Amino acid sequence: MADVVLRPELHVAIVGAGPRGLSVLERLLVRLGAEPPDGVVRIHLFEPGEAGAGRIWRTTQPTWFLMNTAAGEVSVFSDGPDDGPTRAGSGPSFAEWLREHPKWAHIGPNDYGPRAVYGEYLRHAFDAMVANAPLGVEVRHVPEAAVRLHRTDGKTVVTGAGGTVVVADKVVLTTGHPRVTPDDAEKALLTFARQRPGLAYVRGDSAADLPLSAIEPGEQVGVVGLGLTFFDVMAELTEGRGGRFVERDGRTEYIPSGAEPHLVAGSRSGLVMLARGRNQKSPTYRYRPTFVTEEAILEARRRAQRTTGSAQLDFARDVLPLLKLEVEHVYYTAHVRRRLSDEAAERFAAIHATSTDRRGLLEAWGLADVPPPDLERLARPFGDREFDSPRAFHGSLLDLLDQDIAEARQGNVDNPLKASLDILRDTRAVVRQAVDFAGLRPESHREFLTWFNPINTMVSAGPPATRVAQACALIRAGLLTVVGPATEVSADHAAGAFVLQSPYVKGSRREVTTLVDARIPRPQLSATADPLIRQALADGLITELVNTDTATGQRFPAGSIAVTRKPFHVVDALGNPDPDLYALGVPTENTRWFTQIGNGRPGPMTGFHHDADAIAADVLRRPAAAPVVLSARPRAAVAI
Ligand SMILES: Cc1cc2nc3c(=O)[nH]c(=O)nc-3n(C[C@H](O)[C@H](O)[C@H](O)COP(=O)(O)OP(=O)(O)OC[C@H]3O[C@@H](n4cnc5c(N)ncnc54)[C@H](O)[C@@H]3O)c2cc1C
Repeated sequence: MADVVLRPELHVAIVGAGPRGLSVLERLLVRLGAEPPDGVVRIHLFEPGEAGAGRIWRTTQPTWFLMNTAAGEVSVFSDGPDDGPTRAGSGPSFAEWLREHPKWAHIGPNDYGPRAVYGEYLRHAFDAMVANAPLGVEVRHVPEAAVRLHRTDGKTVVTGAGGTVVVADKVVLTTGHPRVTPDDAEKALLTFARQRPGLAYVRGDSAADLPLSAIEPGEQVGVVGLGLTFFDVMAELTEGRGGRFVERDGRTEYIPSGAEPHLVAGSRSGLVMLARGRNQKSPTYRYRPTFVTEEAILEARRRAQRTTGSAQLDFARDVLPLLKLEVEHVYYTAHVRRRLSDEAAERFAAIHATSTDRRGLLEAWGLADVPPPDLERLARPFGDREFDSPRAFHGSLLDLLDQDIAEARQGNVDNPLKASLDILRDTRAVVRQAVDFAGLRPESHREFLTWFNPINTMVSAGPPATRVAQACALIRAGLLTVVGPATEVSADHAAGAFVLQSPYVKGSRREVTTLVDARIPRPQLSATADPLIRQALADGLITELVNTDTATGQRFPAGSIAVTRKPFHVVDALGNPDPDLYALGVPTENTRWFTQIGNGRPGPMTGFHHDADAIAADVLRRPAAAPVVLSARPRAAVAI
């Protein structure tokens, strides 16, 4: 009988195979390809949806749900294609992949493709990675939600909803966008609707998962939120009902099908989300900040430590002024470029970067009468202004949105305002240095998330201009009413309807029979509806980050999974980093900032892939156990 030597095995479970789970798989495979494993590596991906695309990018959703990232800026591969097959570490960007598919070739690099098509690309990427996985590596999709994690004999056991059990050495949680249990206000709305036939309350989720088909033609439908999901709901209930948007004399118009309802929408600002500038930046473009630099953040920490005894920062005091300066730098430079030339803009930028008299500089360049962008005012343009009628409010709103569309169409380099706001996207990595891992004082952290973050999102993370133009067309066609600032939503028992109204717009009260919450649920660990996360939290395997100021005792529970810096080990209930359990992406949002990212960029690796790579490196660093020899005779071993 031949000796049988069991080669060591490493079992890795990835829970959630949307873009983040895929990125971890990709970097594991790249590293395993570069350094072949001693034994067998088995990677198990728990994902009830399509592996690679996951829930958000499922390929079966309608094509009117669009991405809000230009196709040319998107790649899920950590490096570009080479002469070999598409595989982990070498594959096309989304735009390159689209070009290879005649069906989608009309979507250019600066266009915003359907989410379903990005889902196809992600699935293709997953299939290619698996088909070309290095020798000794097995990848398996477990088409089940993981519902339980527990420890036994130093291993982490992952149990799937369908009964699959994986005994893993390492587990990575990439569970993405959460579903949460209803809070008291939502429960009241649900009960109100349930008790009255003909009323419906639709809770917030990815629009493709919202049950909107029961909405009747002509029905009055309330929509809470005017952000990205609002545009999805709008598309579903117009284009999805057979209506068409057409361009006539340079303006977007809507041709109704007669099957659409009437939308009554509102939000805190009363403003439809602003458009992002037409993309003019190359796929490999990277911005090098002038003011909000890593060094400036470090210096601010040293200063905070010296003066307050804590290195935690105050966002409004330490970071926001740098960010505003950066925005102004780009804004005025773009003005100079537009008025004079590229060379003049370069000269201006160089002087502005080090000037101690910026006011004087603006005067010298003829820009003294150009006020800097006011982020808060841009995001909340109506302030305390009152309007005599819904018509008066719509007049102001349309003027503002028409202006916004015109600026967005000029592009994110040529238009000074859109160029400067785009910088808020380009500097996210540095802002993260200040914010992540309780980098801000607790009160400042709360303020950052509740005050700055919505403003930042409103002015820099909006949809393409076409979407805003479509919203304007619907207002003009009388199919969309925007209620006004500080929209209040209530259940009117006497009227037997939901009511939306704005205290700033006279006559704005509207009754609706269906109310749709068009806001993606925010990560809130204690309210998660995911059985796995609930159980892991209850058992102390994972914990919520509580940002604490040790000097004052001030605390801010952030609602997200507490993780270490790279490689993002979760922190258990005893406060210890767990060497075998990692969390990445949306479940860690608020421990880190702006983790809702579904792609890297073409070209050199960006944060999206660096994050995944840190986990991959740590997972594989584990020394493999010595082979288990079942028979003592040393020769003619058969490895399995
Ligand atoms: C509607 C919508 C549109 C967006 N559009 C863009 C865009 O255009 N550009 C952009 O950059 N970002 C966009 N985002 C942000 C989004 O966060 C990322 O693009 C991306 O989807 C995040 O990837 P992820 O893998 O972290 O999370 P997800 O995409 O949410 O994937 C997580 C996966 O985990 C699975 N899962 C959850 N729990 C379990 C469990 N217990 N067991 C097993 N599997 C589980 C889910 O089924 C899901 O497939 C959008 C987000 C939403 C909601």
